[in-house]
Amino acid sequence: MLLAHKTALVTGGTRGIGRAIVARFAAEGASVAFSYVSESSADLARDLCAQLTAQYDVTIRAFRADGSRYDEAENLVRRVGDEMGGIHILVNNAGITRDNLLLRLSEAQWDEVLDNNLKSVFHLCKHSSRYMLKQRQGSIINIGSIIGLRGNAGQANYAASKAGMIGFSKSVAQELGSRNIRCNVISPGFIDTEMTQALPEATRTEYSNGIPLKRFGTGDEVAQVALFLASDLSAYVTGQTISVCGGLYR
Ligand code: NDP
Repeated sequence: MLLAHKTALVTGGTRGIGRAIVARFAAEGASVAFSYVSESSADLARDLCAQLTAQYDVTIRAFRADGSRYDEAENLVRRVGDEMGGIHILVNNAGITRDNLLLRLSEAQWDEVLDNNLKSVFHLCKHSSRYMLKQRQGSIINIGSIIGLRGNAGQANYAASKAGMIGFSKSVAQELGSRNIRCNVISPGFIDTEMTQALPEATRTEYSNGIPLKRFGTGDEVAQVALFLASDLSAYVTGQTISVCGGLYR
């Protein structure tokens, strides 16, 4: 049980990578709170709580909260921190894409992606750090993307949000390291989730052929690395970016 007696907050836990991280952390003994934003995901959230609570002897709670809104993020963190015994692990996983070529990229598409993918990370880290400072321990894991490392045509907004997350995380690691609070980034490559299932089949095949491991990754393969960074196995790792991409980014 690598995460016994720890409380984790995972943003965007209803689907994809976030859902896999919630399940992996629960299996390792953590109490887990996760967020989601759409009203239509309420049933998914409830079912996941019921399934994991029945499977493991841990507390799992779901909160509907939009991390891009300062007040909602603050309220989410306060409820988790006060009602679930602090926050030892924060995973900023929630993210969206609004792809377009630069000439067609609207201000709304830029703002939506930057607010959901980067501003939310500032909100969640700022508010959670109050609890971590009091506890004198914490692990923050921000889910970036290899697109933030290498860029991608049609994703300037998304790449900027994920690249910004890396500079932000390195700064937080330096600022909070003396208090035993670590901050790292995981940069997934192509992972089989609803986000990538939206791609045309021909594009998925073309992308797979370009990956040294010749396939998309799974949410659980990202969750395994999140578990490493959340646990004491990585006690001397901070300010780093770890790619989980089947060798695509080199
Ligand atoms: P999904 O689209 O499958 O799931 C996104 C999750 O985030 C959902 O739970 C969604 O909630 C939640 N969410 C979105 N916006 C908000 C918000 N403002 N506040 C709270 N929750 C929110 O995404 P993936 O699992 O594919 O991606 C997860 C992360 O990994 C993202 O940051 C993405 O950029 C990154 N990533 C993904 C890759 C991939 O190939 N899939 C590759 C590289 C990086 P709801 O159910 O309510 O919509």
